[in-house]
Amino acid sequence: MIEKTRGYITKRKIYRDTSLLLTIYSYDYGKIEGIAKGARKIDDYGRYDGILDLFSEYEVVFYPRRQRLALFVQFYQLDSFWEHIRDYEKFVTICTAMELLNYIAQPYEQNHQIYNLLEFFLKEVAVEKTDIIFCAFVIKLLKFSGFSPQIDECLKCKNKIDYHGGFSVSEGSLFCLKCGGGKPGLIPVSSGTIKSINFLKEESYSNIKRFELAPKIKSELEGIIAQFMHYQISFLPRLWQELNVQSA
Ligand SMILES: [Zn+2]
Repeated sequence: MIEKTRGYITKRKIYRDTSLLLTIYSYDYGKIEGIAKGARKIDDYGRYDGILDLFSEYEVVFYPRRQRLALFVQFYQLDSFWEHIRDYEKFVTICTAMELLNYIAQPYEQNHQIYNLLEFFLKEVAVEKTDIIFCAFVIKLLKFSGFSPQIDECLKCKNKIDYHGGFSVSEGSLFCLKCGGGKPGLIPVSSGTIKSINFLKEESYSNIKRFELAPKIKSELEGIIAQFMHYQISFLPRLWQELNVQSA
């Protein structure tokens, strides 16, 4: 049966002479992987015609075919973020975020929270504060996918942590200095980082845009999140390292 939805192209790969392999994160069906046949037709002047833009939002008509690749048959562009690729740093940031999304999202699993997050990310990452918008995207994506780190109170005594704590990546949880004493593998984490992670995890998009991250907190936060992802979802986007080097 033929279906219609709207979605963002999160991955695009050339396939044979004129086709494209696409991953689309859609409003109604979550992640859809499929093929757009003849999407790279050559026009009368020898140019590629109608190449579908990466990171842009389309209304899309398709045949789901759940056991194999979906077949995309019609596209109508709703919003374009193609210009993002002109700026190398933004391009790397978006590719990193999309790689994580494509890894974590399950095919045909609708999630409006993730769709809205993706919309916010692509709109705001172009404006400014690329690093905060990226951190918010990663932390909220983990939360909406059910992998959120528990980082507001000590896992054992349930006390709030006001100064320093230790983060256990294997448990995805925080311990106060008293309860965590002698526990192997704890990563020290400052209260500033704890507060920032919670802020980015819980706050609305409009508040996140006004937030500032000190460089020291940013690198601590990225370190914790990288370790958490590595342990909990066994995945780190290929360009993550480059991103950290860039912003250091
Ligand atoms: Zn404790």
